[in-house]
Amino acid sequence: MPQYTLKQASELLQSKQISTVELATEYLNAINAQNPTLNGYITLNPEATLAEARAADERIAQGKGGLLTGVPVAYKDIFCQTGWRTACSSKMLDNFVAPYTATVVQNLLDAGMVTLGRTNMDEFAMGSTNETSFYGAAKNPWNLEHVPGGSSGGSAAVVAARLAPAALGSDTGGSIRQPASHCGITGIKPTYGTVSRFGMVAYASSFDQAGPMAQTAEDCAILLNAMASFDERDSTSLEREKEDYTRDLNAPLKGLKIGLPKEYFTASNSADVQTALENAKALLQAQGAELVEVSLPQTELSIPAYYVLASAEASTNLSRYDGVRYGHRAEKFGDLDEMYANTRAEGFGSEVKRRIMIGTYVLSHGYYDAYYLKAQKLRRLVANDFQTAFAQCDLILAPTAPTAAPKLGELNHDPVQAYLSDIYTIAVNLAGLPALTLPAGFSSDGLPIGVQLIGNYFSEARILGTAHQIQLNSDWHTKSLA
Ligand code: GLN
Repeated sequence: MPQYTLKQASELLQSKQISTVELATEYLNAINAQNPTLNGYITLNPEATLAEARAADERIAQGKGGLLTGVPVAYKDIFCQTGWRTACSSKMLDNFVAPYTATVVQNLLDAGMVTLGRTNMDEFAMGSTNETSFYGAAKNPWNLEHVPGGSSGGSAAVVAARLAPAALGSDTGGSIRQPASHCGITGIKPTYGTVSRFGMVAYASSFDQAGPMAQTAEDCAILLNAMASFDERDSTSLEREKEDYTRDLNAPLKGLKIGLPKEYFTASNSADVQTALENAKALLQAQGAELVEVSLPQTELSIPAYYVLASAEASTNLSRYDGVRYGHRAEKFGDLDEMYANTRAEGFGSEVKRRIMIGTYVLSHGYYDAYYLKAQKLRRLVANDFQTAFAQCDLILAPTAPTAAPKLGELNHDPVQAYLSDIYTIAVNLAGLPALTLPAGFSSDGLPIGVQLIGNYFSEARILGTAHQIQLNSDWHTKSLA
């Protein structure tokens, strides 16, 4: 089983100890053996993978290889890439082969990375367990009876099972961080606007951000360097000077002020999560960081605000799936209206339909002010809370989720319970802030538990550096079952 971090894979390739084709083959063989049980990948195309690998080998032979040339990567099924089916784990797009490539994918292809496949996810990224996938849930490699988290559950599962050195995920309300936490890996959602959304299937456009998922914070920093770019084709892309996200990896933590939001450190977190937080606190303090209590008073209201706004945006974004130009089309219908209705009734799963109905309702004439506008105002208050907190601290330490990964089926029939489990991740998306999760312990039954580092806008390098220093002094991120 290949165990390499992204950095190790890069070093092996650059020192020519292994060729790109050999490395890709090693991963494809491991995937063949393990994926049927894990269900982490839903689309593989070994011929395309090996063609990319051969091109990368050529590039390395010509001395034109860079840090990422030849390193394999997996993509959540939300990222378009020419010639690859991009279904967003929905029946609606089951037959959709992307005719163009997402900017983030193109950036990684330009760097020479090799595509391993598309990973499983909740349908249209709506969910927290991967169970809303049309292709069935991915499993948690630590315990196959548990979910990997969601919505980027497949990406988290394949990195944790060492079936990819790194993967991309997307995070609208926690979908990079929560599955990364449940699977014992590291993942970061950057400041909104850092990474282009062009070619990433839209869920809630004012929240969606792509980000890297890997074993270590260092790997995430390297990947983010390659992913981030200004993109004219994304109207909310930020035009800023190019940053080096690895620049603070070796910065000492002495004097760093870490805020502990009192609303996040409560008895409603499982005892295992509390222990993981204590572990992280101790490591930070041992390196000279200072812990201060802060407050995020709107924490509870961020859940209703998010589910109103994200559903509203989803209802408009998903109106494009009408059976006319691409995707699923119902076979039986009388007239045009019935064609739309039957197509959407057949193509979408129940969670997606629920979001479309909530979204349409809160945007409707009689309810817009009461729900949508109110939620927008709350969004501002949530963002203000963070600014007050960041006047008192540099970074915030927080749980990623209130518990370790639930069992398959546990949250499936209780959407409200599932929404509530997003309590620690969604405020970050409402505010557009960057946040990372890293492993900080295990539950009593052996499931990994992550904790979050949240920073102010554009503090990715500091967040990644802090996580790297924790990882230099701990070994949870190195554990795997593979
Ligand atoms: N669980 C949240 C939702 O279902 C987050 C999903 C995400 O970040 N894509 O909306």
